Amino acid sequence: MADETVRDGLVVGIDYTIKLPNGEAVDTTAGEEPVEILQGAGEIIQGLEKALYGMRVGEQKHVVVPPAEGFGEEPEEESQLSVPRDELPEEIEWQEGDEVYVQTEDAEGPEPAYVVAVNDDEIVLDMNHPLAGKTLDVDVVVRSLRPATEEELAHGHAHGEDWEEEEAEFGEDGWDGEGEEDEDEDEEV
Ligand code: ZN
Repeated sequence: MADETVRDGLVVGIDYTIKLPNGEAVDTTAGEEPVEILQGAGEIIQGLEKALYGMRVGEQKHVVVPPAEGFGEEPEEESQLSVPRDELPEEIEWQEGDEVYVQTEDAEGPEPAYVVAVNDDEIVLDMNHPLAGKTLDVDVVVRSLRPATEEELAHGHAHGEDWEEEEAEFGEDGWDGEGEEDEDEDEEV
């Protein structure tokens, strides 16, 4: 697929580094294998997916991604929530930065929340993504390009080699969209 360029329905292998304007790296594939994503499926932040269209294997790009195409606009209000330990499953080891799904009273379905503090008697969740409101500097290199399999198209995400095992363990949605499995993602509080 030497002449191919990135388009919907192809699986794209990328290396990337996402930085804040102050230079702090918040996510990177450096030192790891490239991440494969199904183009058009919304597996990565919108600003990065948009930038990939038309790129060839070996091409690199620097993109500045505004909050609206990254992790959302600056939150208008703080929305933190303390959950007492005794209302939580005991076996989970909570860590700052974990993503969980929470059912709040006025929401229709579970919404993502992020662990911002882990205390002895409670954990504190924030309903706003920690990178909301941030402009992101993204460096990306396209490493590979291949047609998606039928399963990948049906699932709406790219599969690694051991996907059948992983999905048996973590479920079909056991991916956080950035190529890392996230065991805590589907836990409900
Ligand atoms: Zn799948």
